Amino acid sequence: MRWEPDRSAPALPYVQPTSFWLAASRGAQDRCPSCGVGHVFDGYLRVAPACSHCGAPLGSLRADDAPPYFTIFIAGHVLIPIVLWVERVWMPPMWLHMLLWLPLFSVVCIAMLRPIKGATLGWMMRLGMTGAEGGAEPLPPETTPPKTYAPGTHG
Ligand SMILES: [Zn+2]
Repeated sequence: MRWEPDRSAPALPYVQPTSFWLAASRGAQDRCPSCGVGHVFDGYLRVAPACSHCGAPLGSLRADDAPPYFTIFIAGHVLIPIVLWVERVWMPPMWLHMLLWLPLFSVVCIAMLRPIKGATLGWMMRLGMTGAEGGAEPLPPETTPPKTYAPGTHG
């Protein structure tokens, strides 16, 4: 009998959402993408370390720059045509453009960032991106070498 490596996927530490839309919509509503009951966020944008209901490791999902990228992409594609239309029809002075669009862009982006981050985290859970794809886990805090200060070595 020939030896075969174990090609089965390792068990995920949570129940994987059944579809992209279910996971993304749960995340966008600040619900755990896995169970739909617990909260994703532990503040405005801080992700909870784990789901309070099912224990899914939400804190290990690293969305990084994806949510701001999606937010700017969507807000820009919705608002820039309106900006151009206003300029073409009324040609307001530049100070009025700045007075109108800068606060509007800020408010729209701040309002969209949280649900988009939740949806991104749900999408990542659906894809099984647990945060351990990069190989070794970071050292636990007690084994991290202490930072020492040596006088005269900082240039
Ligand atoms: Zn949960």
